[in-house]
Amino acid sequence: MGLLSGFRNPHNLPVKTCAHCGRPFCWRRKWARSWDEVKYCSKGCKHRAQKTPANICAAASVEDEF
Ligand SMILES: [Zn+2]
Repeated sequence: MGLLSGFRNPHNLPVKTCAHCGRPFCWRRKWARSWDEVKYCSKGCKHRAQKTPANICAAASVEDEF
């Protein structure tokens, strides 16, 4: 099971892993029409992922310390 062990999914909904924070998240009704395109668990993750592409991630995390 690994990554998903301990993750509660009582309704047996489809699950994806967030491309930004790496946490599993369940299908939501608001994603009914766009589930295939959903990559992030939340608006916040989507926003941060777009703001900090992987190649400049190191620089951005340093900036966050201040
Ligand atoms: Zn996330």
